[in-house]
Amino acid sequence: MSGCSLVWLRNDLRLADNPALASAIARGAGVVALYVHETAPGLRPPGGAARWWLERSLASLRDSLAEAGIELLVETGDAREIVPEQAARLKAAFVCWNRRHAPAERETDAAIKTTLRENGAAAASFPGNVLVEPWEVRTGGGGPYQVFTPFAKAVRQHLVAPPLSHPKAGSLTTATSSAVEGPPTGEPTWSQKLAKHWLLGEEAARAALLRFLDNCLAGYAENRDRPAIDGTSSLSPYLRFGEISARQVWHAASAVSAQDPVKAAQVEKFLSELIWRDFNYHQLYHRPDIASLDMRDSLASLEWRNDEAALRAWQRGLTGFPIVDAGMRQLWETGWMHNRVRMLAASLLTKNLLIDWRLGERWFWDTLVDADMASNPGNWQWVAGCGMDAAPYFRIFNPVLQGQRFDPDGAYVKRWVPELAGLPATWVHRPFEAPEDELTAAGVILGETYPRPLVDLKASRDRAMRARAVS
Ligand SMILES: Cc1cc2nc3c(=O)[nH]c(=O)nc-3n(C[C@H](O)[C@H](O)[C@H](O)COP(=O)(O)OP(=O)(O)OC[C@H]3O[C@@H](n4cnc5c(N)ncnc54)[C@H](O)[C@@H]3O)c2cc1C
Repeated sequence: MSGCSLVWLRNDLRLADNPALASAIARGAGVVALYVHETAPGLRPPGGAARWWLERSLASLRDSLAEAGIELLVETGDAREIVPEQAARLKAAFVCWNRRHAPAERETDAAIKTTLRENGAAAASFPGNVLVEPWEVRTGGGGPYQVFTPFAKAVRQHLVAPPLSHPKAGSLTTATSSAVEGPPTGEPTWSQKLAKHWLLGEEAARAALLRFLDNCLAGYAENRDRPAIDGTSSLSPYLRFGEISARQVWHAASAVSAQDPVKAAQVEKFLSELIWRDFNYHQLYHRPDIASLDMRDSLASLEWRNDEAALRAWQRGLTGFPIVDAGMRQLWETGWMHNRVRMLAASLLTKNLLIDWRLGERWFWDTLVDADMASNPGNWQWVAGCGMDAAPYFRIFNPVLQGQRFDPDGAYVKRWVPELAGLPATWVHRPFEAPEDELTAAGVILGETYPRPLVDLKASRDRAMRARAVS
């Protein structure tokens, strides 16, 4: 045991393309893996859906690590104490991890590195989460990027490192230790229903990637905006927990383009979405606290409305705008929501309802299985109009027109808002304008079986524009 390596796993719950794990294995002195449910103040605790995912992901990782001869320890508490304690207990000579990027996380990791070195262990960190580390690309002026297009160009020019292969099973010296099991993280009871919708773990992530490349990539650019179609990869929770790396996804998709140039445009679109993930991490790294502070002061003096009842209706999918309600119910049921609908739901909340984006972000943080430290606040700020390279404030989505455009036959709405299933496509996105006989024929009683809209779209749009004009 003495002289072994300790790998501290965080958002990288995989064996393949795991640089920290690979470097520990390469030392050849026995490896122990550690996961810490961190409770230190200042670190953002995972939401309910993420806790549900995490428990199962750790169970799957434990099995895969065991096959490779590596034990996984799971602890709960302050990593600044636990990591050095475990390193000392195991007499580890080398402790390593893949980097994370939020300011508070970096402070924690830096403090731990110092303690470990003071205690005589070697400590090292590796790039394992994003395509390109946030400090590796800089504008001509040497600062961080604030605009997506030049950032994307810089990422493409930087060349994304090829992924590392899966360590061979049984190739390691088993490092025995007294197993330490942390208490369960406390999943909310509502999260149990998520099991119906997801397979978890590294193998499931790889299968999801292959399924996407084989079946969906060819139509990605056209289908990705159609919520009724299974046209996107659904890789976001796997990427969030690092069951697959962004580099693995990048190179697998790029290989398709090399083999089949007809798909090149589709691949480009997909890669550019992956770069948005990096762009958000770039902001997370370079800014103080993107989950609570506006990145730009464009909305600084805007007065958000305090409307508990409207917030509650939005959370429950009872706004009276079918496509938004469908999305919010999809989220509650599955822990995931289609990207187009996320934008519509966020726009309705922050603009038509004038409710602070932070409240929406927190709800998503608690209910999304892919709730991500960078991409959740990054996208909320983008929609609200205070993010980097954000949508212009006057771009207020009209949920009726957007529904008609992206869900033309209403299949998505009818799936998640079954009380509207009997309405014809003409009315399914605007039941509040449907003639009485159409509503009666479909069994819809507005205000009873389905809510009337929370706001008038035009009046609330004007109100949002006025609120911005005075801010
Ligand atoms: C208000 C709002 C909140 C969001 N919160 C999150 C979040 O917490 N976690 C999260 O991963 N994504 C978030 N997104 C971005 C996006 O909706 C999801 O990444 C996407 O829907 C996941 O589905 P997919 O894996 O099938 O995506 P695909 O279309 O298959 O894209 C592949 C991957 O690219 C990345 N990606 C795609 N779009 C974006 C984007 N706009 N921003 C950042 N990365 C992107 C994701 O990692 C995704 O898995 C949010 C978007 C909005 C509008």
